[in-house]
Amino acid sequence: MENNNLIAYWDNAASTMVDKRVLESMLPYFSELYGNSSSSHHYGSIAKSAIDEARENVSNLINAQTKEIIFTSGATESINLALKGFIEENFESGNHIITVKSEHKAVLESCEYLEKRGISVTYLDVDENGHISLNDLKESITSRTILIAIMYVNNEVGVIQPIKEIGQIAKENSVAFFCDATQAIGKINVDVIEDNIDMLAFSGHKIYGPKGIGVLYKRNGISIAPLIHGGNQEFSLRAGTSNTPLIVGIGKASLLAKNEIHVRQENAIKKRIEIIEHFINNEIGILPKWEKFQIPNILNIELISCNSIDFMNSQIYKMAISNGSACNSGLFEVSHVFRLLSKRPENIIRISF
Ligand SMILES: *Cc1c(COP(=O)(O)O)cnc(C)c1O
Repeated sequence: MENNNLIAYWDNAASTMVDKRVLESMLPYFSELYGNSSSSHHYGSIAKSAIDEARENVSNLINAQTKEIIFTSGATESINLALKGFIEENFESGNHIITVKSEHKAVLESCEYLEKRGISVTYLDVDENGHISLNDLKESITSRTILIAIMYVNNEVGVIQPIKEIGQIAKENSVAFFCDATQAIGKINVDVIEDNIDMLAFSGHKIYGPKGIGVLYKRNGISIAPLIHGGNQEFSLRAGTSNTPLIVGIGKASLLAKNEIHVRQENAIKKRIEIIEHFINNEIGILPKWEKFQIPNILNIELISCNSIDFMNSQIYKMAISNGSACNSGLFEVSHVFRLLSKRPENIIRISF
């Protein structure tokens, strides 16, 4: 463990460091500014203003309105709220969801849960580059379809889906469109109006903010039922005393993401070139086919003579990388997304910076 500082941290798709400016913005709300934002006294109103400002920063980042932003405990909760909450509120208009085989487990498991309760789900295939076919999507829509759930950027292979086109198809067919944008936020411009997104989820700790806080954007006019009942916090869609410091943190992280996105993109492109050179020049691995469709900060390498687990073990004091999403690699299970895209999924690693 004393070598910690020498290890290259290349697993930013699993979690990022809290930016110092984010941490500083949060600190007073743990200590002297501890009021409950629902209280009507001075302490309460200080917390409430801080939350209002955070909501403003989050909504500016994705071109939404403040009343369309719901704070949750993370992307996982936002995804659960969007999918289960939408179905519960709208099942009288239909019972069919369309999603994709390469989605995050939070989406796939929520869909499986809903299937057990009588909802039918279509899982679209992806091609060898990780993209869905827009034609398949159109053909899967029936008169019973009420929701499409497709992620912006895949967390394991970094491939960007044609979100604007998907949003357009959803709109033309009067189907709601939910997008897990956890890996896109802060990396590429996300605009819920331009992309025709009705609901969108992301997490604080993937954008240099704290863990345990996330956002669900829900377009005005889309109805969902809450998962957590109680007080009227978060427009009565997520009860419980607001977590002021974490909300302030994701607000600050959103502000920084908006202001610094171009610098981050440039840095990622430079870093990507360096890392690719390291792996190619030392004949450790080759680039997979889908490399040209990846977001700059996520890179996969197909190892030439070693599987991902042996390689990760051999590099354990040199680089922090992964062989899929954090949930998969804990179990040393080969990623379901690598399996969809590659003939040698056990040789693929993910590097994210
Ligand atoms: C990290 C991640 C999530 C889950 O976020 P949590 O903060 O763990 O709830 C969901 N989707 C994608 C694409 C992710 O990368």
